[in-house]
Amino acid sequence: MSATTARIVTSYGKVYIVELDDGRRLSASTRGKKTDYACGDYVAIDVINAEQAVINKALERKTLLYRSDQWKSKLIAANVTQIVIVVASVPSFSDELIGRALLAAADANIRALICLNKCDLPESDAARARLAYYKQFDYPVVEISAKQDLSPLMPWLDGQISVLVGQSGMGKSTITNALIPEANARVNEISLALDSGKHTTTHAQLYKLNETAELIDSPGLQSFGLAHMRAESLPHLMADMSPHVGQCRFSNCRHRQEPGCAILNAVAAGAIAPTRLELMHRLQDEIQLASTNY
Ligand code: GDP
Ligand code: ZN
Repeated sequence: MSATTARIVTSYGKVYIVELDDGRRLSASTRGKKTDYACGDYVAIDVINAEQAVINKALERKTLLYRSDQWKSKLIAANVTQIVIVVASVPSFSDELIGRALLAAADANIRALICLNKCDLPESDAARARLAYYKQFDYPVVEISAKQDLSPLMPWLDGQISVLVGQSGMGKSTITNALIPEANARVNEISLALDSGKHTTTHAQLYKLNETAELIDSPGLQSFGLAHMRAESLPHLMADMSPHVGQCRFSNCRHRQEPGCAILNAVAAGAIAPTRLELMHRLQDEIQLASTNY
């Protein structure tokens, strides 16, 4: 038995695969009931034999992402540097998903990129117009057609550990399969091995796209959990709210109905979309409720 460090390249439920510096892969279990490890984690391990290891602890993480799971937040990936939010004109995308993903990214200090897929469709103009709101606040938007041409996305992936997130039907798997042809086969292999596919919601796998670009594929990742966040931090983390938040009359303003609220004033003046304020309130209520349910 020998102690070393490795990287988690696959996680499904409580089962992990780790990769050593020399590229060898071992299946890894954890000590006791400890399962708070995620794909992308660097971990201290004990190598048991040529196939098996035991994870002792996670090394320091640069970033951490959580999946939404009712009132709790579950660890989904570690050390991700970029969230790619995949949206499309058909089916129509949800501003709530975009808002959640942008918040999760801002909170974790991760870059966020909005990717409008299916730009070959004539309906794309309407989607483009909706995305102009985010662009206005410097959230980057890139347009692609996964079926025809992924190249506008490629420079954004260089030097990053990216994760794709999106509602079903937006084209996440089409993009993933174009980026990593073996991804589909791998997922099937794992679902078969685990008898069903019931673990796909927690399954995450890391792929190397080129010398500098990596992708963590997590087929079950549709939205992010925010339960670990503080409700008061939300306006500071939203690019349309943050310039106003320090300007409210009361320093403890909740931006609901307080007089002299700079955010409410900005909404009234048309600078902030009312739907974004509603979303903020809804997510704050959700975070509050989660903290009382723990
Ligand atoms: P997922 O649920 O997000 O993984 O979405 P899929 O990758 O399964 O794609 C959903 C549907 O959209 C499929 O019928 C795809 O063929 C289609 N689709 C994906 N990308 C494009 C695209 O760039 N253009 C068009 N027209 N259809 C696409
Ligand atoms: Zn206020």
